[in-house]
Parts: sequence; C-alpha cells; structure tokens
Amino acid sequence: MPLFSPRRYQAPFNPVHRDSAPMRLFTSFERFTKSVMFGCRMCGNCILQETAFVCPMTCPKGLRNGLCGGATAEECEVDPTRPCTWYVIYERAEKMGREDTLLEVNAPLDGNKTGHETWIDMIRLWRERDKGPHPIQFFTKQEQFKEEWDGFFYDLRQPDWWQGDREYHPPAYEEPVTVLEANLRTGQFTTTAEIAPPLGASGSIILKKAGWLKGLVAAANFTDNASASARMSSVASSKICLDVGLEPVMQLQARDRSRVVIESDAMGAAGLGIRNILCLTGDHHRFGPGPMSTPDQFDMDAVQILWMLRRMRDDGIYLDGRKIKRRPEWFLGAAASPFGAPPKYEALRAQKKVNAGAQFIQTQPIFDYDGFVEWLEALDKRDILDKVYVLAGLIPLRSARAAHFMADEVPGVKIPAEIVKRMDDAGDKEGQAEEGVAIALEIIEKLKSTPGLNGMHIMAVHWEAIVPRLIEESGVPKPTILSLEETKPPEIAPPNRAAPVAVTA
Ligand code: SF4
Repeated sequence: MPLFSPRRYQAPFNPVHRDSAPMRLFTSFERFTKSVMFGCRMCGNCILQETAFVCPMTCPKGLRNGLCGGATAEECEVDPTRPCTWYVIYERAEKMGREDTLLEVNAPLDGNKTGHETWIDMIRLWRERDKGPHPIQFFTKQEQFKEEWDGFFYDLRQPDWWQGDREYHPPAYEEPVTVLEANLRTGQFTTTAEIAPPLGASGSIILKKAGWLKGLVAAANFTDNASASARMSSVASSKICLDVGLEPVMQLQARDRSRVVIESDAMGAAGLGIRNILCLTGDHHRFGPGPMSTPDQFDMDAVQILWMLRRMRDDGIYLDGRKIKRRPEWFLGAAASPFGAPPKYEALRAQKKVNAGAQFIQTQPIFDYDGFVEWLEALDKRDILDKVYVLAGLIPLRSARAAHFMADEVPGVKIPAEIVKRMDDAGDKEGQAEEGVAIALEIIEKLKSTPGLNGMHIMAVHWEAIVPRLIEESGVPKPTILSLEETKPPEIAPPNRAAPVAVTA
C-alpha cells in the first residue's frame, strides 16, 4: 500500500520503446521508490505537485482533472474496495490550502513518456533553465524561491502542445452559433430534452420523437453509448434529428475514444452541421452489460475534451499543432453532478470545466431542490454563474420501481425519502405515472423562478411522449428562436447576473 495515495487500480505502464540497460536500471529504481511512496504507475507525466502529492493515476479511469460523477466519500464507483482517489486529493489539498492549484487544466498523457523515468528529465530541465529555483534562495529569498519552484513545475507538467492554466477563456466569437445558444442569450427560461438513440438501425423512432418535441424545446440531446451499452451513435442520431428541423446536442464522451478520434468526431459533427456538443468523460466499462473491454479506456477526460475543442475552435489548431483552415463553430457544454460530492468540490470541478471551455451545463436530475440551490450557491461563490448557462436536469418518474432504482443504484442521484414514499403510495401503474408527473411539475415550478438558473433539461428516458405535457402544464416558455437564419441577431445577455438566493421553504 503506498504511503501517500490510495492503492492503485491498474498495473504500471511499460515504455513503448526500450531504453539502454543503465537507463532501465535507473527507471526500475525510480519505479520502485515512487511505487512505495505514491502507488506510481510510471505515467511519465507527473502532476503530483498539482494534486497534493496524491497520484491521480491510481484512479481507475486515470482522471487527471478531478472526480467523476459517481464518486462518493466512501468508495470509488468502479472499485468499491478502495477510496476515490480524487476525494483524497481534494481533502488533502484543502488541508494544505492548495485547492486553487486543482484548477489548472492538466494535459492527457504523452505516450512517448509513459513507462520512462522522470527524475533525469527533471534535472535536465532544471539545468537548462536560466531561472531558478536555486536551493540557496530557500533560505535567503523564500518568496522568490516559491515562485520559481511553482514556475519550474508548471514548465515540467505543461507541455507546449497543451499549455493548460487556471484561467477562464471566454469564447472568441460574438454571434450565437446555435439555436440553443440564441435562446439562452434571450434570458428566457430554456428547455432541452433527451431522446434515447435507438437500439436498432432504423431512424424512424428518432423522427417520431423529434416530431413530438419540435417547437417545444430548444434542442434535443442524444446520449453517447451511456452506461457502456452500445446503441445508434450520437452523431448519427443527431444528424437524423437535425434533418427534421430540431437542433441536436451531440454528447461526446471520452470513454472508448483516443484524442485523435475525439478531434475527428467533433470535426465530423461540425461538417454535418451539428454544433452543440456536450463533452463527457463517460461511464466506466464495468457498468456495461457485456464482457468488459480492456481497462485503460480513457485517453482523455471531459475537462481535457473541452480544453482541446475550445482551442480547435478559437485558436484554429489541432492538438498536434496543425492549423485548421475552416474553423468549426461549436457551442460547448458539460455535465455536472450537484449531489455527487460536497458542493464545494463539485463547484471546483464545474469551474474547471467552465475555464476550459464549457458554455452551458446540464445537470444530473434534481429531486432535492434545497440541495440543488446549495450547489448553485457554491457555483456563485466561485464566480462562474455569469460565464455559463445552467440547465437543471429533470427526470419524470414513471414508476415506484424507477424511483427506488435511481435512489439506490444511480451514482450522483439523490431522491428524498418522501418522494420515494409518494411513488410507493401512488397505487397502480397509471397512478404511479401520474404521481411522477405531479412531482415533476412541482419541481419545475420551483426551477422556473430560481435565480442563477437558465433552464432545464428533461431526461424522460424511453418516456419522451410525456415531455409535451410537462411543458404545456408547467407553462415554461417555448423557444422563441427556432432557426438562426430567420432571426435577427438576438440581444446578447450574459448567462446570469443574479446570485441564487437561499431556499427557506
Ligand atoms: S470514483 Fe471516479 S474519480 Fe474517484 S477514483 Fe473512482 S473512477 Fe476515479
């Protein structure tokens, strides 16, 4: 068991090319020492300085930019026999007063470095730098030493092809690029809804469901093999939807994709006219129905995808530095989990996504309204509500069984006991569905007047037919802008100005 990190989940990396014998000997020594101390996997791209000296590569997903939506204080969602690495990192960073270092957007691994030593690299860089840190300054000029120490490790962990930082980078364009963005900019409460991509090859079910939603929601989300379970691809579903005049939000997850495929898929979507992209890390393979594929399936995470796509759009460069002649137009989104971890940690993660490039956030379903407002307040404290549009997730419960399943099995979802009881007491199937609708309408009523909130995202999984009723009966506004072409440039309103108020009810 390592001294400073949780036990690692996967074996250390091996290098893709062999070093000389003396170098291999040195690497073995480094591997042994760092393994005992940090559970090191020899990723060769060390960011211990950034993560309160806990190795993030001990996380089963190898996440380098914060926890996933399934993390809890008790255990990792993938391997319940171990704690969540990122909880340990957040807690230690908090104790050390180094929380803000966690805002830096860390690069994905450079595969040429994995499995190789890093200490000699470190000494080489230190010798090459004309700046310090110089050991003598530790005793004579502590401030300068600290600054140069931080600068040195920044140079070490941030390669030229990435240049991650802790700053907010506003989008480098003026006019909205999607109908969803245009509607959000009007300042009106805006609704999106999810359509589950079909299991089979026929797109007719998408046409039918898009027909129900057209004119009622600003855009429809298409999941990307959620729960590691194969369906029609998000890009194909999005294109079918786009062709019938309803704008899609294409979900794009990191699981199963290398950085090259992510760049290519996102560019392909832009070529097809799909411009809303929701960037996700994705569920671990362990949650899929089939035999689990090889464990190292995460080349990137959601924060890194946002950072990479924003730079492709705004700076016109691929990750490898090649210039993009015709830049893509994307409205980039992220997911958030208000009940996954304490709001202060979730807010930190949300801020990192916003800094990296998220322009809108769709959350996990809200059943505990007070808890949701607490999370909004945490976002407000981090000063991000005027930089991102927030859409609260809403799931209408169709049955008591669904309520129990979500309360007990779905990570990051919190359903108060009184809601589960209402569903239990609602009688037969129809009665339960009616109670689910009543609960959803009560939640929408509160969401509609929540300061700091821009809209909602309805996830009526396999029950999309209920969405029109929810919209009609709740009285939420329908989108005022249905096409970018037929509208004059809308008034530009920032996402939010008002701070959320504490809930007293
Ligand atoms: S819960 Fe998620 S973030 Fe935490 S260690 Fe497990 S996979 Fe990683």
